[in-house]
Amino acid sequence: MASVTFDHVIKKYAGDVLAVNDLNLEIRDKEFLVLVGPSGCGKSTALRMIAGLEEISGGILRIGDRVVNNVPPKDRDIAMVFQSYALYPHMTVFDNMAFGLRMRKTTPSGATPGQSREQAIRARVEEVADSIGLRQFLTRKPRQLSGGQRQRVALGRAIVREPQVFLMDEPLSNLDAKLRVQTRAEISKLHRRLQTTMIYVTHDQTEAMTMGDRIAVMRDGILQQLDTPQNLYDHPTNMFVAGFIGSPAMNFFPATLQQEGGELYINGEGLRLKVPQQYRQALLSQAGKQLIFGLRPEDVADVRMEPNADPASVVPVTVDVVEPMGSEIYLYLLTSGNQQFVARVDPLTRVTPGEQMQVTFDMSKMHAFDPTSQNSLM
Ligand code: ADP
Repeated sequence: MASVTFDHVIKKYAGDVLAVNDLNLEIRDKEFLVLVGPSGCGKSTALRMIAGLEEISGGILRIGDRVVNNVPPKDRDIAMVFQSYALYPHMTVFDNMAFGLRMRKTTPSGATPGQSREQAIRARVEEVADSIGLRQFLTRKPRQLSGGQRQRVALGRAIVREPQVFLMDEPLSNLDAKLRVQTRAEISKLHRRLQTTMIYVTHDQTEAMTMGDRIAVMRDGILQQLDTPQNLYDHPTNMFVAGFIGSPAMNFFPATLQQEGGELYINGEGLRLKVPQQYRQALLSQAGKQLIFGLRPEDVADVRMEPNADPASVVPVTVDVVEPMGSEIYLYLLTSGNQQFVARVDPLTRVTPGEQMQVTFDMSKMHAFDPTSQNSLM
């Protein structure tokens, strides 16, 4: 078990590609940290630097207290699980799982006195195989397994080695949707049981939100925000994070902030909304200026369902598209200024495309961003 610390770490590839740009990040001992961001943001590069698969161009990388910049991968005491499983096709599941222990030439921990090394390895592999439901597959070859089972072998191979840190690079991408959800839960349970530091790379914000103790959101090689899933969702630091975390994504409305009679109003294309008291102080200095108003789809409701809604939070709209999801409905709506946005509403809402309706915005959940820097103003 160990922490992992990036201290002003830079990775430059040939051709002046700055894949990781001045990364400062401390992954705590025993933490499940998810690195998330769109393709090309540098998350795999960051992970591969921890594994020692990529050289570091600048800065310091530590595992625990030890600087590992120049430590070869095999001496870092980490285990990595890839999307592609990377199993040896000619070896059985057992031999795949035992491979790392055999290569190491040390006896696995937990060996009893008088046990040969090979016996201790067998006991360790069988114990791990039992714990992740692979016992009946130990004599099979990888090609005789399903994708989900292969990924479990790859996980098992990592677990038997008892590394200080687990690194996982999109390990669920090759699995179908149902298996992905199931394996996601299994990895979370595994983390609770093993109590080992896990660093997990994904482009999927749902995976990040459901698995991470904390999430590091990256974009263009730069760390945007590091926080718990709920804080990222509730308090995104900029429009990128606000739009990346959450599905459907947060709605953004270009607007002007107007001061009138001691109140602040958001004036957008076809909407005029009163800023609640609790945000007035934070936004007062922006009065008269342009901003981007943000609201998540679930914070929009049909007025008929909210009879006590403040009239200064109501917006007349035209229904463009209706998407029933079963447990909820996604409504694509247009303001009178032709600005489109999405609402997640109660499944009992009865509306048809083309219909005029009124929705109310829960302004206590509002966000506001600077249109130039795109940083949050709240
Ligand atoms: P992600 O994992 O977020 O998709 P990567 O870390 O793989 O992103 O890549 C980050 C950036 O570095 C991308 O622009 C990618 O094209 C570039 N890159 C990755 N590997 C190499 C390499 N070996 N040589 C040159 N550029 C690379």
